[in-house]
Amino acid sequence: MIGDMKRTIRATLPVRALAFLALALIALSACAAAGFPAPTAGPKYIFLFIGDGMGENHVAAAQLYAATPEAAARGISPLRFPTFPVRGEITTHNLSRGVTDSAAAATALASGRKTANGVLNMDSKATERYAIITDLAAARGRRVGIVTSVSLDHATPAGFYAFAAARDDYYSIALQLAARDFDYFGGGGFLSPRGGKGNKPDALALAAANGFTVARTRAAFAALAPGVGRAIAVGEKLGDGQALPYAADRAPGDLALADFVAKGVELLDGAGGFFMMAEGGKIDWASHDNDARLMLPEVADLDRAVGVAVAFQAAHPGDTLIVVTSDHETGGLAIAGGEGFDWARLSWSTGGHTGARVAVFASGVGQELFAGSYDNTGIFERLKALIEAE
Ligand SMILES: [Zn+2]
Repeated sequence: MIGDMKRTIRATLPVRALAFLALALIALSACAAAGFPAPTAGPKYIFLFIGDGMGENHVAAAQLYAATPEAAARGISPLRFPTFPVRGEITTHNLSRGVTDSAAAATALASGRKTANGVLNMDSKATERYAIITDLAAARGRRVGIVTSVSLDHATPAGFYAFAAARDDYYSIALQLAARDFDYFGGGGFLSPRGGKGNKPDALALAAANGFTVARTRAAFAALAPGVGRAIAVGEKLGDGQALPYAADRAPGDLALADFVAKGVELLDGAGGFFMMAEGGKIDWASHDNDARLMLPEVADLDRAVGVAVAFQAAHPGDTLIVVTSDHETGGLAIAGGEGFDWARLSWSTGGHTGARVAVFASGVGQELFAGSYDNTGIFERLKALIEAE
């Protein structure tokens, strides 16, 4: 009898060891199939910055511009994120391998799945909802923040909290934000807070009823502090499309993307860690207008917001990851030959988006996963692996 038990134990141990080994191999091969090393440790704090419409040449031109006396006179510093230790590259095409819009691209980045242009986090027939990275992060106890320089219901920020057959169904998207249990939304306003006819319940009032503290003035923004609970901060001064003013047009004291990221860091910091997505949305708008004088300060402004994350990372070096990428290129920007920076060397080939690949810059815990060339859905895969490794 005792002999039988001993034999059973001896038989069980190798089976358990083999089962463990098999599970470990499955986890490893899942990452190997996805084209990145399996993470051994995950960052507690993750920043994902998205420069909307920011192609490789937008970054290169902004680096040249930032080194000029003109830029220095405007308070622009040499760009930080292009010097991050890891640089990768992603495809940007949508489900049909066409040129993407920001909705299909946000879907790929947030859910790891492709869809048609105009659709947010659903299949092209809008019958299935995709699982998104912010929900995965929240389910693991992280606080979630979503920040943008354009309206909070625009495609890129909406890609991190909403599901919609049509990206311009702004009221439905605003209602989804209001009903969310995420911790912080900051940036622009809402395009349709009371529906198309203006006669529906106000989305921000519904958000307040759902427990959000809503700050719409600079004073209310300044008063948002740890302990306030979940918060929505809308810029006091908004321009066209309920967006923050262009960096090039900003007046002293106007809130910038960096201010909303800094407020996010303040509110989201805590024992469980956080995931923050922050979008520089007007790089795309200026590029649709082929306006380099507006566009380059927007890239520099995104970098200033990244600087807030870099400072946080310096205080939490063993726990922080910063990823900076883009959803697609806008304008077909080219830089002609010559030395240094000259506005005349920049030229555009379209007022729309292009199918160009875009760069990925990474710094911190797990940075090595973002090297190489891969599909834009790979951003989700890598972030998911890192969140699950923590
Ligand atoms: Zn665009």
